[in-house]
Amino acid sequence: MDIIIRYLKNSSRIFIATHTNPDGDAIGSLVAMGLSLDSLNKKITLYNESPIPAVYRFLPSVNRVVRNINNENYDLAIILDCSDLQRIGNAVSIIKTIPITINIDHHVTNTRFGNFQLIDTSACATSEIIYRLIKQMAVPFNKAIATSIYTGILTDTGSFRFSNTNKAAFAICQEMVELGVDPYNIAQHVYGTYSLGRIKLLNLALDSIEISDNGKLSIMTLTQDMFNETHTQPEDVDGLINYAKRIEDVKVAALIQQHWNGKEKSINCNRFHVSLRSDGTVDVAAIAASFGGGGHSSAAGFSIESTLSDVKLQILKLTETM
Ligand code: AMP
Ligand code: MN
Ligand code: MN
Repeated sequence: MDIIIRYLKNSSRIFIATHTNPDGDAIGSLVAMGLSLDSLNKKITLYNESPIPAVYRFLPSVNRVVRNINNENYDLAIILDCSDLQRIGNAVSIIKTIPITINIDHHVTNTRFGNFQLIDTSACATSEIIYRLIKQMAVPFNKAIATSIYTGILTDTGSFRFSNTNKAAFAICQEMVELGVDPYNIAQHVYGTYSLGRIKLLNLALDSIEISDNGKLSIMTLTQDMFNETHTQPEDVDGLINYAKRIEDVKVAALIQQHWNGKEKSINCNRFHVSLRSDGTVDVAAIAASFGGGGHSSAAGFSIESTLSDVKLQILKLTETM
């Protein structure tokens, strides 16, 4: 960590990016890192290729996150919450022009890309690692940084319910509350209000659930037609897979999501994102990695190009070893 801090302190133009289709940890850690480097008077660019999901638009400084960049002669890149560099999307080409890349993450499948790594697979969220980094840099926390860190930990632990929930999650969140974070206010933003379309998508998602013959695998499917019908977007899928995972006897839940580009029909209807969740007895990070993706042992994902029926067949095959 010390060498990373030295690079942070010695750099003046810093590019910070997180993964496409960002979750609360991706946005929370991005903003917290940016705000803390602001106070060291660095020139910061916050980058995410995707639009900020509606539920995270209350976070401080999210309007500073840009979706396009020019090469502005950065001297340092920081990549957060990404198991591989490709997770940031098109900006990979810009990274290649920046002399130093720092990789900060908590995924077991992290490829250790970049010049320096700060990877802790026991951290509940990348936001936990950023908290420690900010402490170590002796940058004072303010309410804006605290709100971002709190939101990252809250969302990545599924509100302190998932298996990655650790002691630090509670200790850090308590400290953030002491700094003025209002847990009810954040919960209202993140979980309190959904668009009508999102509720209708939930209905379609529940209706799509199929269970394998042995009862151990559930599959939920979301097609472009469903997004179009309900006027929803990929950000509205967040959390739906947990319904498929909750089903009695299910060990692995899969959510197959047809790629969507905001138009009537995607250029390629045969691209799918598959999310996997397990009850802890099956390592879905290893499964996702075998399909070229990654993640954590009980929450992982990958992208695949094929027909929907073939994707389902490949997933159903997983039950042979369950
Ligand atoms: P998701 O499937 O999007 O709900 O993501 C579950 C977990 O898997 C998250 O920690 C993601 O960062 C990770 N993940 C999802 N898709 C990929 C991918 N294509 N490559 C690497 N990690 C992924
Ligand atoms: Mn993430
Ligand atoms: Mn994370």
